Amino acid sequence: MITIAFLFAAWIVYKAARRISSQYRHLDKEEIRDVMLNRTDKNSPEYSRIIRHLGICEKCQDKLHNYKNEDYIEDHLVD
Ligand SMILES: [Zn+2]
Repeated sequence: MITIAFLFAAWIVYKAARRISSQYRHLDKEEIRDVMLNRTDKNSPEYSRIIRHLGICEKCQDKLHNYKNEDYIEDHLVD
């Protein structure tokens, strides 16, 4: 019985850690591009994760602000 209780506790911790770490994961180039180009479904959990992350991460806010200057032009050249 102790094992089951332990596993259950471990699972709770695992789920919480996963949720927190996904919130803290930095946005990648594609995610930033999709947000900038409004390609992300605003009702999706992915979009709310991105917005939550942007609320806490200055690095990714900067990436988003600098996006137009650099990557956007690159992408257009590729298209
Ligand atoms: Zn970030």
